[in-house]
Amino acid sequence: MKTKITILLLFGLMLFSCTRNIKPTTPSKIPRIRVLLGNITQRDSLQLKDKFKLQLEEAIYELGRHNPFFYLSLSKNGFKMYNPNRLFVFNSKDVVHISPTDPLNDRFKFRNKWYKGKIILRLSDQGALSLINVIDLESYLKSVVVGEMPSGKKSYLEALKAQAICARTYALNKMNERRHRPFDVYGDINDQVYSGLNRHTDLATKAVEATKGVVLEYQDTLAQIYFHSTCGGISEDPADLWGRKNSPPYLKVRKDVLGNRFTCSVSPYFRWQRRFTFRQIDSLFALRFHRSNLTAPISDTLHLQCRFNVLQRTASGRVKQLQINYADTTVTLQNFEIRSFFSKFNQGALPSLLFALSTENDSVLVIKGGGYGHGIGLCQWGALNMSEQGFKYYDILVNQYFPGTYLKRIY
Ligand SMILES: [Zn+2]
Repeated sequence: MKTKITILLLFGLMLFSCTRNIKPTTPSKIPRIRVLLGNITQRDSLQLKDKFKLQLEEAIYELGRHNPFFYLSLSKNGFKMYNPNRLFVFNSKDVVHISPTDPLNDRFKFRNKWYKGKIILRLSDQGALSLINVIDLESYLKSVVVGEMPSGKKSYLEALKAQAICARTYALNKMNERRHRPFDVYGDINDQVYSGLNRHTDLATKAVEATKGVVLEYQDTLAQIYFHSTCGGISEDPADLWGRKNSPPYLKVRKDVLGNRFTCSVSPYFRWQRRFTFRQIDSLFALRFHRSNLTAPISDTLHLQCRFNVLQRTASGRVKQLQINYADTTVTLQNFEIRSFFSKFNQGALPSLLFALSTENDSVLVIKGGGYGHGIGLCQWGALNMSEQGFKYYDILVNQYFPGTYLKRIY
């Protein structure tokens, strides 16, 4: 598909431009997950409430009650932890464990958020001081589920249970993959957003507790989990979008329908539109490629042309490669680069790659799209709609979004 914008520029124009389906297993302990809360490169602080223990070779130190506040920073040969009363100096190979005496009640504050559980301090491979929180997986999930899906309506409970199972399965996959690394998951959008004790809701907590230990499996291994806001009516295959090896059958492209409607048609991002004037596109070029054709000599800017050419789409119809010809510059953008290229105007990056291009009056680029996110796996707005319509979490997961998988309680 080709779209062409031609603009005649005037002289002088200068721009600055469900339990019943769950296979039982032998009960075991709740696993503990290591969450990276942050990498400290300069100075940061740590507040300990009540009694924590710092166990070193020479002694065990009690922290919290009398020494509640510490600074953390890098030092010449490692890192240090200090306040006006105490100084602990560690070398670059040290791994420091600070443990709560009462794990249910003791808490600590880091970067304006409160957490429970153990703290590990160690230097990262890049030389920053990593602060890692070790916490039981179920407590971690209570925060994560709130961060990943709205929990303001009681009718969302089944969708939240589905999200809890996805988040648990995702986390366990990462714990397997990264067991030889210093932490299992990032506490931010690199994995799942974890805000400690600050973001808990009764409904999300209920969803996690009702599905305790339940994961999604396929052929006796944990299922590959992906989720996104809104698929726009059709899911995506990760093998196609990201060029990975064969994806499992439950992640193949499918229409997301319920009866005669698209399941996620209730989403505010089910259909969207973005419009870009030629001046805005020139600014995007200037921003991304450090050149603006509109600030070239005036004689060069007459009959300036800009063409958008979709070179490749995935089987679901998502744009995989987009070529842009602008004056004498040609660039080819792939996957997320395409979404981010358009990010300066109109509320940030394009919501998805499921879109079509057109022009208006030969001067405005119109992008009409559907969905929000990559479109792989669980469609969260679809799940919320199913939950509101009375479907259960196993319908959402096993019947709708990961067909062929099954639920299993592993602890
Ligand atoms: Zn959907």
